Amino acid sequence: MQEPVGTCKKCGKALYCLDGFFYGVKENGGVFCFDCSEEEEKDQM
Ligand SMILES: [Zn+2]
Repeated sequence: MQEPVGTCKKCGKALYCLDGFFYGVKENGGVFCFDCSEEEEKDQM
């Protein structure tokens, strides 16, 4: 089962919930894909 949740605030990629697991990261009032959330973390290091 795949439910659309939103789009990545950074790259605009569509994000979904699969079997109740959200494939993305929610932060700062928005949602991001894993790729973009990892880039954010790298920038802070
Ligand atoms: Zn992204």
